[in-house]
Amino acid sequence: MARPCVWDELVGQRTVAERLRAAVTADAVTHAYLLVGPPGSGKKTAARALACALVCDDGGCGACPTCYRVKKGFHPDVRIVSPEGAAGYLVEQVRDIIHDAHLAAVEATRKIYIIEAADAFNESAANAFLKTLEEPPDHVVMILLANGYDAVLPTIASRCQIVRLRRIPPSLAVDVLRERSGASEEDALAALAASGGVVARALDFVRSQSKREARRELLGVLKDLPAMDAADVLASARRVLEAVRAPLAEIKERHGAELAERKEFGGPLAALEQRQKREMTAREREAVLEVIDMTASWLRDCLAMAEGTPEVVANRDVSDAMDEVAAVLTAGAAVRALDAVAEARRRISYNVSPQLAVEAMLFDVREVLSCPR
Ligand SMILES: [Zn+2]
Repeated sequence: MARPCVWDELVGQRTVAERLRAAVTADAVTHAYLLVGPPGSGKKTAARALACALVCDDGGCGACPTCYRVKKGFHPDVRIVSPEGAAGYLVEQVRDIIHDAHLAAVEATRKIYIIEAADAFNESAANAFLKTLEEPPDHVVMILLANGYDAVLPTIASRCQIVRLRRIPPSLAVDVLRERSGASEEDALAALAASGGVVARALDFVRSQSKREARRELLGVLKDLPAMDAADVLASARRVLEAVRAPLAEIKERHGAELAERKEFGGPLAALEQRQKREMTAREREAVLEVIDMTASWLRDCLAMAEGTPEVVANRDVSDAMDEVAAVLTAGAAVRALDAVAEARRRISYNVSPQLAVEAMLFDVREVLSCPR
């Protein structure tokens, strides 16, 4: 058996792993990749594996301190970038990447940028980026990620080497998650439901006490929602938000370490602080979207139980608690409740405060569930 390496972490994408790995071995890595695949297919895992393979002295062993820091997102030469504006990448954010790309690497011989949501560039952000994407400094590799090829601006896609990832069958995702975390089938299903089917995020979820705590808090609120008065709903929204924000403490810790490192090695502090602030806002929005995903999956489960198909229920650990809702829920009511959840998602994308979006969602879902016909 081959010795373990970082590519083992990429599930169900053997061709992709072989192709990228061969490029590293042959020293034929191109300056820009666009990894395309549906949510949960492992784009970010593939990008991190490629980054590890490029900066690790052992070609991506997956186990050394360098690989560890890449995977945890705090290697100084591997930056993960996500859109910081409500509608996508900001021009100033792109300028920050370009400026940073022209600085020498801190520890490794390369600098790698993992650019999430490559479909979230508008024309002006893309225009600011194109020249650097086409001819980045020699030591730079850009790895762009997108759910679909067609959603990426052609000006961006045409400057990248395209790597396609296939959809991972849900049963394979469950198996892999169980194998890696030792979770039960029930816990694995619940973790995938709370993580949009993304194995890497589900792994984080299984391992994070505070994320599981937040889920418990939310599912408890949903169950009691029909019997709540307005004051209860407001208090519940506050509690749920507190619970989902708790895991952000880890990011604050990393920001502290980054700042300390910057102070030691030198460099502009204000720009870093600004970036950290923007990242915090983006992560907070992500945490709230998790609440929204979990609510949607809980409602779909209640409907599945109402329709007599309990085998497709994802949140099996709380199926007893869903019985009461399922007993009276009609398909029409479930659709109305899911519309309310979709509306919350829209509100978040329009930069409505998370507090207001979650409150409104819980009020709307309560209204449907207290009169579910
Ligand atoms: Zn390594």
